[in-house]
Amino acid sequence: MGLLALGTALDWPDAKKAANQVREWGIEQLLTIWRKARVKERDALLWGDEIEYLVVAIDDEQKKVRLSLCQADVLKALAKDEALAEKDITVPDLQNGADHTGALPTFHPEFGRFMLEATPGKPWGIGFKDLLAVEDDMKLRRDIAKKHMDADQFPITLTTFPHLGLPDSLRPEYPPSGPALRSQFVPDEIANPHIRFPTLAANIRSRRERKVELNVPVFKDKNTPSPFNDPIVNYDLHKWPEDDDVRNGAAKQDCVYMDAMAFGMGSCCLQITFQAKNIREGRTLYDQLSPLGPIMLALTAATPIYKGFLVDTDVRWNQISRAVDDRTAEELGEKPLVNDRWRIPKSRYASNSTYIAQDPRLRPEYMDPNLIVNEELKAKLVDGGMDDLLATHFAHLFIRDPIVIFSEDLKELDPEGSNHFENIQSTNWQHMRFKPPPPGADIGWRVEFRSMEIQITDFENAAFAVFIVLITRAILSFDLNFYVPIPRTTENMETAHIRDAVMKEKFWFRKDPFPKRTPRQSPLQSPMLNGISEPPSLGGTSTPRNGTNGTSETCFGPVEEEYTQMSIDEIINGAQDGFPGLIPLVESYLDSVNIDVDTRCRLAVYLDLIRKRADGRLWTGSKWIREFVRKHPEYKGDSVVNDKVVYDLFEAVREIEKTEGRKKQRGWEMLSARERQKGLDD
Ligand code: ADP
Ligand code: MG
Ligand code: MG
Ligand code: MG
Repeated sequence: MGLLALGTALDWPDAKKAANQVREWGIEQLLTIWRKARVKERDALLWGDEIEYLVVAIDDEQKKVRLSLCQADVLKALAKDEALAEKDITVPDLQNGADHTGALPTFHPEFGRFMLEATPGKPWGIGFKDLLAVEDDMKLRRDIAKKHMDADQFPITLTTFPHLGLPDSLRPEYPPSGPALRSQFVPDEIANPHIRFPTLAANIRSRRERKVELNVPVFKDKNTPSPFNDPIVNYDLHKWPEDDDVRNGAAKQDCVYMDAMAFGMGSCCLQITFQAKNIREGRTLYDQLSPLGPIMLALTAATPIYKGFLVDTDVRWNQISRAVDDRTAEELGEKPLVNDRWRIPKSRYASNSTYIAQDPRLRPEYMDPNLIVNEELKAKLVDGGMDDLLATHFAHLFIRDPIVIFSEDLKELDPEGSNHFENIQSTNWQHMRFKPPPPGADIGWRVEFRSMEIQITDFENAAFAVFIVLITRAILSFDLNFYVPIPRTTENMETAHIRDAVMKEKFWFRKDPFPKRTPRQSPLQSPMLNGISEPPSLGGTSTPRNGTNGTSETCFGPVEEEYTQMSIDEIINGAQDGFPGLIPLVESYLDSVNIDVDTRCRLAVYLDLIRKRADGRLWTGSKWIREFVRKHPEYKGDSVVNDKVVYDLFEAVREIEKTEGRKKQRGWEMLSARERQKGLDD
């Protein structure tokens, strides 16, 4: 989350009126940024991770865990801690030579008042030593956060709080159903009180003319009633017009029903941002990492409980997607288009719909045939010199309305600024984000990988961060090709939600990732990709790349033969006579560079976690939590996760963190607690 500007936020009808102005100004700002930054070269290879925490208050007497709405207090305590600021704190891993002296982690607010975000104090560099410093830095962040909380408060890295939306689950407690969220389950006080957040929630609700609607299939255990009707739903409220939603069928049978942004944006994730050496490399990374999004979502699955019930999905993604889905009935295709411009297939929080690399291997058939683009704004970008592919990407993001507009920002356009551009860009929550350099800062083109779920331990979070960083090195070093048609990635994202997808499902993936010589008469030398081999500043103009006009079959062969369905194990560890596997590719990359044995061994521990997750020797967080609940003596087989189970779950989570720390001291043998647990599998 970026800086939080203050100002007078417009309510929905007024914000809607100013939407075109914001978009037009945003496009002007983007063009200015792009013109200046497209020639940037040789930026350092930097990267950074973001860890999000739930803060809970644990009541040992009552044996009860509640969310603690203490974000502001913790951030204030951190800011006031002069001793901390002055202390020459270094990342404990300095014996590795990582140059992070004095770079204290930084803490940021998030949507939920029970959330915290922490990042390294400065981005990590290209060196392998930095990869080995991440875990200790994450531990340091957790320690610092804890030290600025009350004795009974703890930063926990679970994606969602299992009892969010139930009575008596917040501290302090507030009654539900305030004017902004109008939720029958959670109070407005659940959200960060900065005007941006209640406005975001209220304007999304106003734009769609009803509350957001989340229905997650309940996990049908042996004693779960069938049909299942969410017993927490209250059909008798008459405080807000939106209370009619449930009477009009918003809560679906056999589902856990939720009705507010907090149920999605209150989830914690693990994000990794990379700085590329130039725009061209950034565009390549954006495309090549995109097909990995759903794979990493399934592999990091950690979300099996909502509102006190086990659910039949394993990940958070679609819940967030629905929690901020501002589409109207017309845009959703429920009513004929009268007032709105387009039917829009995806929520503004969704998997990506564009590829942007100027790469001869990018076939028109890979593009999303259902892509909606704001053609007028695209024309402005193209007139301003931007190549078709990139203009299409941004003009697709700009089909959305700005949700939070500050009236002060509408007085005058700051042509050197980025506020209007960022307004649209930062409320397009796709699984990859292409981040242009912020004006006035010495920062390059960045790509953010956003699909992963937060993991219970810092060891796991570090392992996934390290793995993704090494994958980017392998992609660039071996010129790997993971392209599949975008609709296949969209489909994979759904597959990633299925319970135990990591073991039981198959995902579309490219069979051969290795580069081939580009055919001499590549159809991609059509006007579409003019300028491919020229500097990015010379990007050409082109015709629409929606895959319907013109194929590249004569040169490349049928697209469908390029990819097939694979298990996550095959994708990560490789298949015999098939896909080589992401881990073996990373290993080959490590073989090709000069690293000492100790570093290599320590990296191997992280890669081993990924390998074992993919082949099932280690469980996902989702499976572990689900089985923990199901084996708990107080669980009645009816999908209900009660207070005592949640209390014991949090105890176990904290124990795993500690045990891992001790294990690490004894020599990098991780997660045996999990492995022991796995032995109990039925
Ligand atoms: P957002 O919340 O908008 O995604 P943040 O400001 O929280 O962005 O930062 C995301 C991550 O990017 C952090 O880990 C930060 O260290 C890292 N980062 C900051 N600057 C750079 C850079 N120039 N290159 C790569 N990563 C960076
Ligand atoms: Mg965040
Ligand atoms: Mg952030
Ligand atoms: Mg981020």
